[in-house]
Amino acid sequence: MLSIVIPVHNESDVIPTLLSRLDRVTRQLDVPVELLFVDDGSHDNSVALLLRARQRQPDIRVVQLSRNFGKEAAVTAGLEHARGDALILMDADLQDPPELIPRMVAEWRRGADVVLMKRRSRAGESWLKRITASLFYRVINRISDASIPVDTGDFRLMSRRTVDALNRLPERNRYLKGMFAWVGMPTVTLEFDRDPRAAGKTKWNYLKLMHLAMEGITSFSTRPLRLALLLGLLAAGAGGLFGTWEVLRALIFGISTPGYASMIAIVTFLSGVQLLCVGLLGEYVGRIYMETKQRPVFIVAEDSEDEAQPILTHLRVAGNDQTH
Ligand code: UDP
Ligand code: MG
Repeated sequence: MLSIVIPVHNESDVIPTLLSRLDRVTRQLDVPVELLFVDDGSHDNSVALLLRARQRQPDIRVVQLSRNFGKEAAVTAGLEHARGDALILMDADLQDPPELIPRMVAEWRRGADVVLMKRRSRAGESWLKRITASLFYRVINRISDASIPVDTGDFRLMSRRTVDALNRLPERNRYLKGMFAWVGMPTVTLEFDRDPRAAGKTKWNYLKLMHLAMEGITSFSTRPLRLALLLGLLAAGAGGLFGTWEVLRALIFGISTPGYASMIAIVTFLSGVQLLCVGLLGEYVGRIYMETKQRPVFIVAEDSEDEAQPILTHLRVAGNDQTH
């Protein structure tokens, strides 16, 4: 069986198109398919649309999280709930064309554990996003141990043993791209042209992306900590040399009064370096704190597979009424 895992957060504009395009594709496949939608706390009628489709199409399964946990958590939930022998991860917004699924399945049949979809083009993305993205990959691949392939997103097929390996990674701060790379496994890469979003609008802004970047860097490398140490050493060394020079100068040529400018320069520079290092430490300490709490990555409110949850269902409906 093939599981297609799709995280959904307020995607009611694209769901009808998504379902019909998926339907056309999965019909051609000669494997049974499970369409696993993970609703990441949508407050539009995404869930209603999916549940209605489920009445016609029993291969649809909807796992509803109790609130918006973020895409990484939604995908994690999908990985844990999927039952297929292979799993395809894709976005709901049709940026990852479902028409490529047969090719991915073919590569899996030929023995690939991971079929990675590499973007040949990034239609509909601003040049600023492209530049920041390429910069980010360059930085992270410099400093982390598992190298993350450039221009690949979450769109990929994974074999059962790859998914099982991923499900064994216990961390709470989940930077999936890094985790995929860390797990490894024999990989085949296919190229495709990434379409612009079919409808609706992107859920990412630069603040969220920066957060994700920080997650990526800190969760896969402690090298920034070493960098901070090096920076501190350099600054301290330079400060020491400069201080010695100033003292010698005062001893040899007498006290020179106008030292204000250099003084203030040194003080601000060094406090800058200190703040930077403390901040960096803070990033890691914060992550250690979050990890030690051992909280689950997501909470499932409802799963369309187990119908015997009348109380939760009731609560959910009441909650929805309030938001409308
Ligand atoms: N998504 C999610 N939770 C969130 C934000 C996004 O599950 O908090 C889903 C969203 O529904 C979509 C996928 O993640 O299926 C990618 O989101 P989006 O297309 O907005 O990101 P972009 O392609 O612009 O990076
Ligand atoms: Mg998108």
